Amino acid sequence: MTHTQILEALHAEDPTPLYQQADNLRREHMGDGIKLRGLVELSSVCVRNCTYCGLRVGNPHVVRYTLTTEELITCAQQAQALHLGTVVLQAGESTSNIPASWIAEVIRRIRGETGQRITLSLGERSPDEFALWREAGAERYLLRFETSNLPLFASIHPGVDPHKEHPRLQRLRILKSLGYEVGGGVMIGIPGQSYDMLVEDILTFNRLHLDMIGLGPYIPHPDTPLYHVPNLPEAKQVPATADMACRTLALARILNPHANIPSTTALSSIDPLSGRRKGLTCGANVFMPNLTPTQYRKAYALYPGKICVNIPDADDMTHLLADFSHLNRFHLHDA
Ligand code: SAH
Ligand code: SF4
Repeated sequence: MTHTQILEALHAEDPTPLYQQADNLRREHMGDGIKLRGLVELSSVCVRNCTYCGLRVGNPHVVRYTLTTEELITCAQQAQALHLGTVVLQAGESTSNIPASWIAEVIRRIRGETGQRITLSLGERSPDEFALWREAGAERYLLRFETSNLPLFASIHPGVDPHKEHPRLQRLRILKSLGYEVGGGVMIGIPGQSYDMLVEDILTFNRLHLDMIGLGPYIPHPDTPLYHVPNLPEAKQVPATADMACRTLALARILNPHANIPSTTALSSIDPLSGRRKGLTCGANVFMPNLTPTQYRKAYALYPGKICVNIPDADDMTHLLADFSHLNRFHLHDA
């Protein structure tokens, strides 16, 4: 698709044909199964100051926790009992609080004791750390590039030089060269994000040959600086809506028929009744139920209104399975 065609699809009055095309492609290339990955929010400690994120180091209102090795093994055992096949270990970024050698040990133990496959999402760590974790048995790495527009990226990531290489695109290339399956992605509706920038993001998914694409709406957090930044004029600004996230998701599927694309927590959070289902019917083929021990979930507040907070694990799975049973052409299967 060309830049103009993507722009037209983002503006079309009725997105139904776009969703239908993406849903058909998803079924044709990925089959009817939904892949489930168990999400474990390993730590709320972060040294970065991303201006949109509730876990930023400058936010004093966050309860900071880090799971113990034994708690992580228990999460992986739960994933094993639920036949998920894969756990995603996600956290803020911190070399002192989340030492690379400790993560390597956790990877080895989870692989050895539960057989679960491991996806990491631990931020912009060093190439040596990525290599160590790959050797320990991690197979996939998720690192959203948030926006491919370097000036916009630099404006929401303090300390990033807008004249150097995009640091997250650079990391994605390194991860790929180390043999990881890599996932990138963006937030939809960042203040200052124009339609033209979003089109470039969508084209970037394809250029990077991503194995996974994770995207969701930007959700303003009142304890962050970006909350106070105004949008572009309405005709230019990408709206942070479920509709725009679903259009982007559908286009991601159409341009990358073989990618694993989750229906994300942020999409479910801004549309709790039907966000998950909408995502899974406009191109997504992955869902990540939250396996973080219940008592820590409230603290992992990337943005307000994040779903799964306070919902006990077992209930979450019951809701999830009930949701999929409505979509009777879906079958759950191992990752
Ligand atoms: N520290 C790691 C992983 C945790 S953040 C990292 O930064 O990659 C995971 C994702 O949460 C980010 O990539 C971002 O896209 C998303 N996120 C953070 N704050 C958000 C917000 N206010 N609205 C929507 N998504 C947000
Ligand atoms: Fe930290 Fe990730 Fe949030 Fe940035 S987006 S502040 S790196 S947790």
